[in-house]
Amino acid sequence: MFGEEYDVIVVGGGHAGAEAAAAAGNMGSKTLLVTMNLQTIGQMSCNPAMGGIAKGQIVREIDALGGMSGIITDKSAIQFKMLNKSKGPAMWSPRAQSDRMRFAEEWRLALENIPNVDFYQEMVSGLLIENGKAVGVKSSLGIDIRAKSVILTNGTFLNGLIHIGEKQFGGGRAGEKAATGITEQLLQLGFESGRMKTGTPPRVDGRSLDYSVMTPQPGDAIPEKFSYLRTPVLTTQRDCFLTHTSELVHDVLREGFDRSPMFNGRIKSVGPRYCPSIEDKINRFADKNSHQIFVEPEGWDTVEVYVNGFSTSLPEDIQFKALRTVKGFEKVKFFRPGYAIEYDYFPPTQLKHTLETKLVDNLYFAGQINGTTGYEEAASQGLMAGINAHLKVNEKEDFILKRDEAYIGVLIDDLITKGTEEPYRMFTSRAEYRTLLRQDNADLRLTPKGYEIGLAKKERLIRMEEKELKSDSFVNFFRETSVKPEEVNPILDSVNSALVKQSDKMFKVFSRPKVTMDHMLQLEAVSGFVEENNLDREVLEQTEIQVKYSGYIAKEKNNADKLLRLENVKIPANFDYSDLKSLSYEAREKLNAIQPVTIAQAARVSGVNPSDISVLLVYLGR
Ligand code: FAD
Repeated sequence: MFGEEYDVIVVGGGHAGAEAAAAAGNMGSKTLLVTMNLQTIGQMSCNPAMGGIAKGQIVREIDALGGMSGIITDKSAIQFKMLNKSKGPAMWSPRAQSDRMRFAEEWRLALENIPNVDFYQEMVSGLLIENGKAVGVKSSLGIDIRAKSVILTNGTFLNGLIHIGEKQFGGGRAGEKAATGITEQLLQLGFESGRMKTGTPPRVDGRSLDYSVMTPQPGDAIPEKFSYLRTPVLTTQRDCFLTHTSELVHDVLREGFDRSPMFNGRIKSVGPRYCPSIEDKINRFADKNSHQIFVEPEGWDTVEVYVNGFSTSLPEDIQFKALRTVKGFEKVKFFRPGYAIEYDYFPPTQLKHTLETKLVDNLYFAGQINGTTGYEEAASQGLMAGINAHLKVNEKEDFILKRDEAYIGVLIDDLITKGTEEPYRMFTSRAEYRTLLRQDNADLRLTPKGYEIGLAKKERLIRMEEKELKSDSFVNFFRETSVKPEEVNPILDSVNSALVKQSDKMFKVFSRPKVTMDHMLQLEAVSGFVEENNLDREVLEQTEIQVKYSGYIAKEKNNADKLLRLENVKIPANFDYSDLKSLSYEAREKLNAIQPVTIAQAARVSGVNPSDISVLLVYLGR
């Protein structure tokens, strides 16, 4: 390793770093993963779960492209749920409870299985830069390692500062030291940095809890999984449990407020709005006398339990005393107290769509360093940075996903166009084309692209093509086949839908509200078609969505196509907006800073109005 030159060096083995190294390595780049502790590759810093609303869609997209997070999650899951199943399919979101230790172990094994990936355990304290290009890293022991590109995925480690009550100490996570040197060097190079904050709840001993007074939260009766490949489906699952805080719990917590770093000004940075600490919830929603606590096992075999909903940086004695007043926690024993952490991030408007920095060539940032929060957000950025670093080293075209193609496209475009001043997490509402960006069709949207760039394997493409072919032919079957009133009326009657008087196309009947695939399967012709063509659950689900939501899907596709025209109007690189006096002052300033590459991206920059876009279109001769 010493003296060798790599194609790609990935700094950090968290979710972003692991995906970045896997992508670059699998695509054929000679890759080095340098991380502070090889034992913590793929470590889940906070909750032992992957997916959830909008995040689950991201994991499926990572998988569809040929990334690893979905496979790792399937191999280490202890419970699976499809959230929002009562809503339309655009909202269905897979979520798995993971075995924390196995998740990390599976990541390590997966990376070790990639021959192109080398490992080195040390802290990177700086970058090697020559002529405005990143050419390697410098370790804290003073070792220089050269590479054609560098991806920084430092997570919460850059000048990390941990807070528990009045105590504060340097650290990247509890029990791990903070990383120094990189921020300082990047600032000297002209980068801008900021501080953010996040927090985590205490972990407790499951043997000390009384589950009999809590409500079990089982997984789905028929669990699904994340990967489109043949990964294991759960045959048994572990339950989570639900309990609640009470006025008494809140009163005990309030006793510690004067010692809280959140309230006495010691924590100055902004935390994740949608993952507030328990003290924040009590403070902000003073009228609520109870909050939910989800009691989540940390794995198959361990007794350690994650107390979801009780994130806190109050003094540990207060955390403990308050937790003992929660129903079922009267005899609780602590494994680890909760804490908050402040860390450096780099406003992501300093990046291009490839996640390469605008200031230094061949330097990429991915994950929490870009101001995001969450494993899925981090992993997807790592994947894209790994792909793009590999492509650039090989002088190939950039790989960019558009907003109508993937949540990953929405995420990166939001980050680099709008920036973020608080930890950014994905929501379905951030995507304007969420009917197109469903969890069920990530393979159809992205696997051909993943295959084309050389990441997704042939097996993946074949599976996807087979699914597409079969669901298309099943949809056609519904379009072409008629059904008689005497066959279909019992079904329509059972869902209180108006009866038909003459034969009608099955597609029309199936499109009616409340008529489901299960109903249609009661028709002999339909079940016969399924049997004859050997259609599996995935194909049935895909067909049902294609039939029932065809109108919405077509409308959204149409809207996306219209906008695509603006996506195709390119703005010259390094365009100087200062002289375009018909633009508002704010638009000139923001556009100069962001340097959008297309008119559509310019329209998404905050502070740029439709009138500014008209000016630009006229100027560009459109
Ligand atoms: P990380 O997972 O932090 O990984 C960074 C990696 O880089 C580590 O392996 C580290 O050892 C390595 N590293 C760092 N600097 C160097 C260096 N200089 N040299 C070598 N290696 C280095 N997310 C949520 O969605 N909700 C939450 O409520 C939430 N709470 C959190 C609470 C805490 C206390 C923490 C620490 C994180 C929390 N997160 C939460 C965030 C979640 O853990 C991250 O979003 C996710 O792990 C980010 O992935 P990453 O790969 O960017 O960084």
